[in-house]
Parts: sequence; structure tokens; C-alpha cells
Amino acid sequence: MIITIHRTNQGDPYEIKSEFVDKHIELKYFGCIMNRKITKTFLGDHLGKTDDMRPELVETRCDLCGSANYKLLFEKEGFRHVRCHDCGLVFVNPRLKSHEEFQRISGTGSMGEEQLSPAQIRRICKELSIFGNYRKLNRILEIGAGKGWFLNVARSLGWEIWAVEINWDAIAELNQKGIRNVITSSAEDFDADPESFDAVRIWDVIEHLQSPRKCLEKVHGSLRPGGLLRVSTTNFRSLSRMVNGRDWVYLNGSDHIVLFDPTTIEKLLKSIGFRRIKIRTRSFNLRRKLYHPEKELRLSFHPLAPFRKLIDETIQFTRFGHQLIVDAVKGP
Ligand SMILES: [Zn+2]
Repeated sequence: MIITIHRTNQGDPYEIKSEFVDKHIELKYFGCIMNRKITKTFLGDHLGKTDDMRPELVETRCDLCGSANYKLLFEKEGFRHVRCHDCGLVFVNPRLKSHEEFQRISGTGSMGEEQLSPAQIRRICKELSIFGNYRKLNRILEIGAGKGWFLNVARSLGWEIWAVEINWDAIAELNQKGIRNVITSSAEDFDADPESFDAVRIWDVIEHLQSPRKCLEKVHGSLRPGGLLRVSTTNFRSLSRMVNGRDWVYLNGSDHIVLFDPTTIEKLLKSIGFRRIKIRTRSFNLRRKLYHPEKELRLSFHPLAPFRKLIDETIQFTRFGHQLIVDAVKGP
């Protein structure tokens, strides 16, 4: 199969064509196009079934502590999920070699709502009121800005807004919204002026990154002393994951490659130099998926299902919620 990716002048700027000619090239680009039309069924049919049809995978060390010692927790659809023997971080190993290219071309960068509801705008304003307590330079950065909803609201409140974005579709969305300060880069390699931001937001991004550590080190360098980092990711030590096991909605080894919990995210942030780390979790989510976002599994009855709402409301007072939200300040 040959896959060519080329620009067109209007509409969807990147078009993917394919024809079955050469298996090697197909493997090279396999990971990049999983969310696109041609491999939706291909992925399900072939991954893990025929060795010579597998995409190219690479081994990695633990991103938190650098250790090469880990134990296998489980394998799901061809992806091995392991836990670091030395620090407890859970990650996918080996992982797709073409992962970054996948984020650039497809990924989830431009996913999200077409319009925000009034409740969503209220939530963003509430979040911005937290950032407001750190406002001195009046500059805010979002890494993985997606459709730019958060930055759009920040701009309406007078912030100078900046984005780091790698996904082509998302960059087009940001341009369309008139968001001009877009650093086109991976989250791990972006260049920004040192100590130039009051606040940085990273929402549901770090689980996708080859190296969350590199990204957070860059963020630390770009924040002014006393500036605020706000990061959200999935919680591997959540009740939702425990209940759903391997069918937990976020276990998608092609794209969710680092799976934090409250302990491991705190260790990583401390090791980089963040202080005053506040961790909270929220949400009890029983949804299950094979692959994000194509195929949702039917929710079979679970004894906890009738209590879902009650658990959802109370789990925010524990560390077992589905979503991890962390505030951390750049120390002196
Ligand atoms: Zn480790």
C-alpha cells in the first residue's frame, strides 16, 4: 500500500490516498492514519493477528525515572501496558514509532465541541478566575489548544493568548478563530521565551506524549517564578478503570501511551521543580471503548451502574475519580 499525503488548496487541507502496492510503506504510515477512513477496519482486522503486517514499534524507558525495569500488567489489542518497577508509572511499551506523525496528521487535536454550551463557558470562566490570581505579565499559554475554545474565552477577558499545537487540523481551527500566536511544534520541543508566562494549561494532552517529562520541563522553563501550571489527564488508579478493567475507555495503546495516577504525576512534577502541588480527581465514568474514538462497547450491566450518579458526585472527594486535575506552581 502506498499512502500519499498532500496539500489541497481548500477544505480539508490534507488528503490521504492509498493503493495496495508495497507493504513496507503501509507499515511506516500505519499509525498516522488510524483515525482516518482507510484504516478503521484495517486496524481491527490486522493488528495483532499477522506479525508481518504489524506497524513498527519502539521500546522505551520509563519517562518519570529513566528505569528500564518494568513488569507487564496486561496486553490489549497488540499493545503491552507495563508498570515501572522503580517508580510505578504505567505506560505503553513498546509503542508506535510513528506516534508523533500520527498526532500531526490525525490524532485528537481538533476534536471537541462545535459550539460551547453556556455551562461549558461558565466552567472555563471559573477556571480562568483561578488563573486570574496569577496574572502579572498577562500572558497565558495552552499546550494542545485543539479548537481554541479555552484561549478564545481567555482573550475575551483581556489575556494575551498563546498556543502550542502540532495537529494540522487544530492549527487551521486556531487560525480561523484569529488566534495568531501559535507555536507549531510538538509539546516536547516547543520554543518559548523563558519565564514569559503567568499560566500554562495542558488539558487531556500528556497521556498522548512520548515524553510528558520533556513537555513539563519546557513548561517549567517558560513559566515565570510563581506562575501556575494546570494539567488534566486520565487517572489510571480510578474506580472507573478498576470496574471496567481492560475495557476502560482510556486504554487505547495506540494513542494513550502514558497513564498517570495521583502518585506518579506528583513525583514527576516535584522532580521538575514544581511546588504547592494540588491534586483533585473527578468523575465516575462507566463508558467503555475498544479504540478511541471509533468503537464504543455496549455497556453491560454492572452492580455499580444504578449508583453511578451518586458515586460520580461523591468521588470528587477522593483520589479515585476518572480525571486527574493538578495545579502546580513554579517554585523559586
Ligand atoms: Zn520509573
